[in-house]
Amino acid sequence: MTEPLSGLATVLEIVTKLRSATKNIRDAELKGLIADLHLAVADLKLELAESRDESRMLRDQLRASQEMGRQLEGLEMRQGVLWRPEPTPGQSAGPFCTRCAETEKKIVPLMEMPSVMDILGTHKCGDCEQLFKVK
Ligand SMILES: [Zn+2]
Repeated sequence: MTEPLSGLATVLEIVTKLRSATKNIRDAELKGLIADLHLAVADLKLELAESRDESRMLRDQLRASQEMGRQLEGLEMRQGVLWRPEPTPGQSAGPFCTRCAETEKKIVPLMEMPSVMDILGTHKCGDCEQLFKVK
């Protein structure tokens, strides 16, 4: 199957040839119609390119979201926060924010707070700023 964009490029090429082939024809109405057709096909080509880019971007977002969902499913709850059950090379083992996981479907590592702040919490989410007491 040919790509819609390459098919449209062929149509545009034909219209361009048609336009130059009819250059010497005196029929103003025919010339006007061919010029309109040329413009319409050029616009369509632009719209199709934009639509293709948007579709590609949405596909990438969906893939990233699915990957994040898979990673979230793999986390386990311990001490009131989320952890990876097994160490993964190059990735933090946790703890991760439960609020961001539930509401934003994001895995956000928690930052350790200075020990003088223990009364408020031992860890803080850098994204939603929720405090956690991880013991
Ligand atoms: Zn958070």
